[in-house]
Amino acid sequence: LSEKLSGIFDTLTRRGALSESDVNAAMREVRRALLEADVALDVVRDFTEKVRAQAVGANVVKSVTPGQMVVKIVNDVLIETLGSDASPIDLSAAPPVAIMMVGLQGAGKTTTTAKIARRLTDRMKRKVLMASLDVKRPAAQEQLAVLGRQVGVDTLPIIAGQTPVQIAQRAEQAARLQGYDVVLLDTAGRTHIDEPLMQEMAEIKRATNPHEILLVADALTGQDAVHLARNFNESVGITGIVLTRTDGDGRGGAALSMRAVTGKPIKLIGTGEKVEDLDDFNPQRIANRILGMGDIVALVEKAAQSIDAEKAAAIAERMRKGKFDLNDLAEQLAQVEKIGGLGGIMGMLPGVAKMKDQISASRLDDKVIKRQRAIILSMTREERRNPDMLKASRKKRIAAGSGMRVEDVNRLLKQHRQMADMMKAMGGAGKRGPMAKMAQ
Ligand code: GDP
Ligand code: MG
Repeated sequence: LSEKLSGIFDTLTRRGALSESDVNAAMREVRRALLEADVALDVVRDFTEKVRAQAVGANVVKSVTPGQMVVKIVNDVLIETLGSDASPIDLSAAPPVAIMMVGLQGAGKTTTTAKIARRLTDRMKRKVLMASLDVKRPAAQEQLAVLGRQVGVDTLPIIAGQTPVQIAQRAEQAARLQGYDVVLLDTAGRTHIDEPLMQEMAEIKRATNPHEILLVADALTGQDAVHLARNFNESVGITGIVLTRTDGDGRGGAALSMRAVTGKPIKLIGTGEKVEDLDDFNPQRIANRILGMGDIVALVEKAAQSIDAEKAAAIAERMRKGKFDLNDLAEQLAQVEKIGGLGGIMGMLPGVAKMKDQISASRLDDKVIKRQRAIILSMTREERRNPDMLKASRKKRIAAGSGMRVEDVNRLLKQHRQMADMMKAMGGAGKRGPMAKMAQ
């Protein structure tokens, strides 16, 4: 994708905002890239529409090309679609919490069952019981028992001749009687989806009412991923996905497809054959694999940050010297607007997220910012540099020019005075002050 996209992108001219034709040209390549990464066709269609909607008219950050900007937007939408919040296994139910593993034969259900058991035992200090409900393959139950001994987790004793539902019920009962926190149910798969498989899964589900039903799927599953995920989700109902063989050379498209059609989170990924090869799902890693150009994304992010940092540092320096005039205030308000309003800027500061509601409840909303900027823009350069010269007649002129009242002008001036005083005080702390920190 890398070379293909840069080819197209070199032809995109540098303009302030991405035009529709910029985006259309880029979208054709993005579409190809997604299909090459084995993302299912209808998912690709929805996805590119979403990107297009966000990209047209988006501002291109100084020092990156429009093409790189598009890649950044693709990356962001990818991450949003893949799910940016960590989604751990949910154990918030009365113990024993039943977790059912479903999927096709060879997907990695049994291996993943042992991996999860090990993780819950070691990291979460839970008492875990595993049970194999696979009565199809002769050695399946023994395979889980071997893995259980390897990771030091108990498995339900094998009794020949029982049905999957009977084994599941016996496992739940044993777990309840013997005080286990979690019971992992490893089911049988088939080489492909069929009615008997779905029926068996539905019966087990009915008998055990599992808190989590995890679809285990091979990352190398190509266009079939959508079919697979949709079927299991509609017939059985899944709560999450575990993607195995991410150590292989799959392009990661299955992750996007399955997440998009089910809306269910990818909870964990298998990264190898060994029992410790289990990781939390990291959307950026999969996005990089799909796009194959994580470096560009990082570049755009850095460029965007450094521009804001440059301006913030300049303003901080003026504050430190007590020279914060209305031009600086206007610049600050513009920055605030760009970053998505005060709510956005405050949300970026550590520890302030909690105050966000209060801030937006106060009257510092974006409409106020627009009005304040309008007032400042109605002043002359000289007035902005030297607010003390603003007497009644000038204020009246400014109010009329910005469509506001004189009270509004007075309120802005008062606010600026308070800010300037506050900043002088903060600036006293020099380069270590809070504003200097913001600029870093
Ligand atoms: P099941 O039929 O769904 O129970 O699949 P198994 O758990 O028996 O796994 C089938 C094969 O896939 C085994 O050889 C596993 O070692 C292998 N396997 C499972 N998960 C992974 C993984 O994340 N990476 C790699 N490379 N191999 C895996
Ligand atoms: Mg198995």
